[in-house]
Amino acid sequence: MQLGEFELLPVSDGSFALDGGQMFGVVPKPLWQRKVPADERNRIQLSLTCLLIRTGRLNILVETGIGDKFDARFKDIYDVRHPPTLLTSLESAGVKPEDVHIVINTHLHFDHCGWNTRRVDGKTVPTFPRARYLIQRGEWESALDSSERERASYIEEFFRPAEAQTEFLDGDSEIVPGIRVEVVPGHTRHLQCVRIESEARCAYFISDTVPMAAHLAYPWIMSLDLYPMETLAAKKRLLPELARKKAIVIFPHETTAPWLRLVERQGKITGEPVA
Ligand SMILES: [Zn+2]
Repeated sequence: MQLGEFELLPVSDGSFALDGGQMFGVVPKPLWQRKVPADERNRIQLSLTCLLIRTGRLNILVETGIGDKFDARFKDIYDVRHPPTLLTSLESAGVKPEDVHIVINTHLHFDHCGWNTRRVDGKTVPTFPRARYLIQRGEWESALDSSERERASYIEEFFRPAEAQTEFLDGDSEIVPGIRVEVVPGHTRHLQCVRIESEARCAYFISDTVPMAAHLAYPWIMSLDLYPMETLAAKKRLLPELARKKAIVIFPHETTAPWLRLVERQGKITGEPVA
């Protein structure tokens, strides 16, 4: 999709599964399973959608999926389904790892930074040898010093071996003209979303603030969120603004479509397919 001067391309790292109860928080199963069916282990399938932004000069990659540095037990618990992988999807778009200039991670949970690194001859190295990796400093610090409640979400090997190429951001920042990161606390304290604006059009990589289209409804908030009331406040602030702009919202985990156009209909914010 062309958005003004930028080309946006969803790139998939396949899918994985999480417990449906974790994904929908206070929403009871009879309600959520009508929209998203669960398997016999109560898991729902989630896409691993990353976004490639081509500025004409730079290839900017938002998120790196779940990667491949896990054992059979992890693969079974999370039902990881490859291919495609992020690397095969990039290759189909004609992009080699060395062609990626900037990697933006919204946060460092294992399903968002998996391909930041890869194993080569028993050593874990940055996957994108020439890229600058951009992450909020506070997110990096929480990932390395996580509490018992969130520890299972962070795997150091997925991001730490790329530390020498990592730049730490302190709050909202412009990455290039037209592309900014904005800190949106809720899912984690320092989660950052990516705003893309060009020629009066807007696209927004909303990350786990709204992981799937079903989560556009205000009370549909993951029980995984560390600060769910802040997620709620962020949704009430962001979604009406994005709907006014008829922005394209890119979801990290929606399986039916990578993005939707936000619109407000009778006071309710919904997504429409992008023509
Ligand atoms: Zn996620």
